[in-house]
Amino acid sequence: MKPEEMHRHILHLLKHHRIRHSRSQSRAGGAWIEAREVCNILPVTSEVSYATALHEIGHILGGDQESRFVVERERGAWDWARQESSTWTPAMEQECSRLLAEYETLGPRATSVDLLKLHAARARGRT
Ligand SMILES: [Zn+2]
Repeated sequence: MKPEEMHRHILHLLKHHRIRHSRSQSRAGGAWIEAREVCNILPVTSEVSYATALHEIGHILGGDQESRFVVERERGAWDWARQESSTWTPAMEQECSRLLAEYETLGPRATSVDLLKLHAARARGRT
C-alpha cells in the first residue's frame, strides 16, 4: 500500500467520523488526542505513521476508552487500529508491540496519573 493511499484512508476516517485534526508541533514526538481532535498525525508517510494515526483515532472510536487503566485504553486503541487498517504489516505490528510494552511496564492497573508521573520523571532526566 502506497503512503498516499494510507494518507487518504486516514483523511477519509477523520472526515467520516467527524474528527478534527491538527498538525500542531507543540509537543515533541508522536501524536495524541484532545477531546475529539487528533493532533499531529499528518502527513502519513510510512506504515509506522499510518499505524500511529490509526491508533490515535482508536483512542476516540475504539473499545475500552472509558477504562481508568492506561494499558486497557492502549490495547483498545491498537485493537481498533488493527481492525480498521487496510493493511497490517510486520513493521506496524512491531510498532504496536513496542509502544504497548512501554505502557505495560507501568503495570496493568496504572492510571493516567502514573503515566504523567513517568513522563515528568523522564523530562527531569533529560534536563
Ligand atoms: Zn495510545
